[in-house]
Amino acid sequence: MVRGGKVGTIMTRQCILCGKCLEVCPLLNATRREELGPRAKTELSAMLRDDELLLSGEDVTRLAGLCLGCHRCRKACSHGVDAPGMVSALRGAHPDFKRWLWKTWLTNAGSLWSSGSTVAKLIPKKFQPEKLGRHLKMLAGLKGGVGLEPCLSVRAFPKTYEETPVLLFAGCTANHVQKDWLASARFLLEGLGVHLLPDDFKCCGSGLRAAGCPHEAEDVARHNIQIWRAAGRPKVLVFCASCLAGLSDYDDFSNEPEKNLWQASLTPLAGWIGDVDFLIADDAPASLGYHRPCHHDAADSDFMFLKRILGGRLETASDKECCGFGGVMGLGAPELADQVTSQCWDRLGAMPVVVTGCSACAARLGATAPERVRVGHWLEMINRGSGGRVSSQT
Ligand code: SF4
Ligand code: SF4
Repeated sequence: MVRGGKVGTIMTRQCILCGKCLEVCPLLNATRREELGPRAKTELSAMLRDDELLLSGEDVTRLAGLCLGCHRCRKACSHGVDAPGMVSALRGAHPDFKRWLWKTWLTNAGSLWSSGSTVAKLIPKKFQPEKLGRHLKMLAGLKGGVGLEPCLSVRAFPKTYEETPVLLFAGCTANHVQKDWLASARFLLEGLGVHLLPDDFKCCGSGLRAAGCPHEAEDVARHNIQIWRAAGRPKVLVFCASCLAGLSDYDDFSNEPEKNLWQASLTPLAGWIGDVDFLIADDAPASLGYHRPCHHDAADSDFMFLKRILGGRLETASDKECCGFGGVMGLGAPELADQVTSQCWDRLGAMPVVVTGCSACAARLGATAPERVRVGHWLEMINRGSGGRVSSQT
């Protein structure tokens, strides 16, 4: 059997055709094509479980690319059906799916992402082959578009977490292309006086899993769990919603209590800095839109944090709209991903500034934003300098 195991093994629960997942699928909502929705994927997976010879069919090859991996359907399903998991299994089992491409891209982030993004930014539009234009834009977007101006200065740090040992999971984007995010996260943790433990975390593995590389995803998960164990199982602070969701999916623990401890240790950074007292610069944007990532944590800690600091300035939040990043799908069916993205911009496009808490959303929205809109991760708003024009508006 090809890598990834048999298709359909992931479907441990029975779909009762209630249709709840259809209401939340951004791909279905944007295209109005039910064959692209989660229920169609569930049914296809059941057919493949009975007859794997169907795998080589052209339709199946195409369908393997058609899922954003947003997990909205999985969250909505009260019967535990995991449609994106089935699509990942299909990608892993399909003989023609380009797993090598994704594996190379995701396991060599350190050497490929920064240089790839720089080169993509340098190619003038008139020399970009039409078919590659979208991908180059995406690649360039990894390093961000115009980004956000620092406009939040710290007035006072609480002593709540002084000397608390923590690990910081930065993720591939912050480690390799958006190092400013990492610097701001460290600045905040330093101010809080925590004991930041050294780490050697690898990628969270969610991209590998989605791309049908389950063994590679398991390898990085085992590595990351071992880092956490060796550090004494402390809190793991995370500032990317997709990384947090990927880390939450880990399953390879010694026992159930250890798994529960891991789940409890995963903490959104925004939730931890809720008591930090910020000053807003006089020239901060008067209105901002918030893009809620599909993978946001249960409390949507990024939104809660921003709302507390920015109050009425945070005017619009996209909720049902997905950014359309879609990883594998962004490359396989860019025209469909664009339809999803344009729904997001219909909601947020009037805002001069859009802020989010997910590296994938920041890249996708940064690459597709209307010209006058600035997009970035909220960490870009943190002023790490001591001076700056500030007022006490909150
Ligand atoms: S996958 Fe779940 S939510 Fe969707 S139709 Fe089936 S049972 Fe309902
Ligand atoms: S993961 Fe997202 S895009 Fe894929 S089927 Fe589910 S809701 Fe639709």
